[in-house]
Amino acid sequence: MTNLGTSYQILDTASVPPLIDALDPVRSLLGGSRADWHVREVGDGNLNLVFLVDGPEGSICLKQALPYVRVAGPGWPMSPERAHFENAYFRSVAPYVGGLIPMIHHYDAGRHLTIMERLSPHIILRQGLIAGRRYPHAARAIGDYVARACFYTSDLAWPFERKLDGVALFAGNKPLIRISVDLIFTEPYFGAARNRHTSPQLDQAASDLRRDAQIKVRAAHFGRKFLTEAQALLHGDLHSGSVMVSETDTRVIDPEFAFYGPIGFDLGAFFGNLLLSWYSQFGRKTPGDDRSAHRAWILEQVTVFWDTFRARFLALWAEHATGDVFPGAMFASTADAIALAAARNAFMDTLFEDMLGFGACKMIRRILGFAHVLDLEGIEDPNARADCERASLAMAATLLRHPEHFKRIEDVAQAVPRFQPRL
Ligand code: ADP
Ligand code: MG
Repeated sequence: MTNLGTSYQILDTASVPPLIDALDPVRSLLGGSRADWHVREVGDGNLNLVFLVDGPEGSICLKQALPYVRVAGPGWPMSPERAHFENAYFRSVAPYVGGLIPMIHHYDAGRHLTIMERLSPHIILRQGLIAGRRYPHAARAIGDYVARACFYTSDLAWPFERKLDGVALFAGNKPLIRISVDLIFTEPYFGAARNRHTSPQLDQAASDLRRDAQIKVRAAHFGRKFLTEAQALLHGDLHSGSVMVSETDTRVIDPEFAFYGPIGFDLGAFFGNLLLSWYSQFGRKTPGDDRSAHRAWILEQVTVFWDTFRARFLALWAEHATGDVFPGAMFASTADAIALAAARNAFMDTLFEDMLGFGACKMIRRILGFAHVLDLEGIEDPNARADCERASLAMAATLLRHPEHFKRIEDVAQAVPRFQPRL
C-alpha cells in the first residue's frame, strides 16, 4: 500500500483481500476465505486502478480513483472525487437502465472506490471491433440506453425541481468537465502543448484545420452547447471503450465524466467512435480479409444506433410526458396532438444535428488532440495510420462544415465511404 500524502490509501493486490474480508456481502459473494482469492490489476484505462478478484464462488471488480491521472502519474493531480460522481450517475440511471450497467455491490466514499459486478466473458467493445468481431445487439442496446438514461433525467420526464437538484450535484464534477472542455473543444484547434498527431504525415492536415476559421467556429459552437445546454444527465464519455460486450449482453461502464449537458454529446461519443472504427479498418486489412464486410456491418450499426435511440426516445416521450417541458396537460385536442408530434420530430432533428457535430468534435480530438484511440494508434505503419486518420478528419470536417447535407442517418451512411483512405 502506498501513501502519497493523501488522506486515503492507494490499494495494491496485497491490500485488496483484507479490505474485502471486512465487507460481509462481498466476502460471501466471492466464497471461501482470503487465502482463496486471486487478485489482479487490469486497469487499461487512463485514470484509475481496476482490480479483478476471483473467489471459489464468484468474482468482483474493484475500481479506485487515484488523486492523479494514472497515465500521467502524480505530476498531473486529479480529484479522486470523480468516484463519487461515477457512483451518483450509476445510482441516478439504474432505475431506468438497470440491466445495461454493472450491478454496484459497494461504494466507499473515503477510499474513493467502487466494488461492482465483474463483467465476464465481456470485453471492451473497442477491442472487439478492432479484432473484427460483431456484436449483433450492441448498437441497439446503446441506442436504447441513451434514450432511457437521457429521457428519464430530462425536463420532459421530471419536475424541474428534481432536475435542478441533479444539476447542482453534478456541477461539482468540475475537474472532469474541465478536461472535456480543454481536450475536446479547445486544444485540438490550436498548437496546445498536450496535442500530438502522426507526424510528419498529418502536419499539413493539422495546420490546415487550425487555420480553418469556419471549423473552429463550429467546434466552439458545440463547446458552447456542451457548457450551456443542461438537457439531461449524461454519461460524459460514452465511446466504445466505455461499453463492455459479450455475444448476448451489453453494459455501459466508466461514467466518471457525468454531468448535465446536451443529449447529443453522449450520442456523438458513440457515433463518432463507430466512424473512427470504420476508417481504422482500412489499416487492418490482411491478405485473407480486406475488412470490407466488417466495415459494412459497422456502418449499419451507426444507423441501428440512431434509429433505436430515436424510436425509443419518442416512445418514452409519448408515454411519460410527466415533466415541466411540453407538459402533457397542455396538449389534449387532436389539433394539439398533430402540432405536438411535429414539435417532437423537430426536437429529434436537433438531437440528430448535435450527434453529428459532437461526433465530429470527438473524431478530431482523437487524431489531433491529447488522448488517441487504439483503433487508429494500433495501426503500426505510420503511413497507413495517417491515411485512415486523414480520411476520418475529412469526414469530421464535412460533418461540421455542411450540416445541411445531413438530414437523415442514411445521408451519413452514404457520405462515409466517399472519404475512403487510399489504402
Ligand atoms: P478508467 O476510468 O480508468 O478508464 P474503466 O472504468 O474504463 O477505468 O475501467 C478500466 C478497464 O477495467 C476497462 O477497460 C475494463 O477492461 C476493466 N473493467 C472495468 N470495469 C469492469 C467490470 N465491471 N468488469 C470487468 N472488467 C472491468
Ligand atoms: Mg475513465
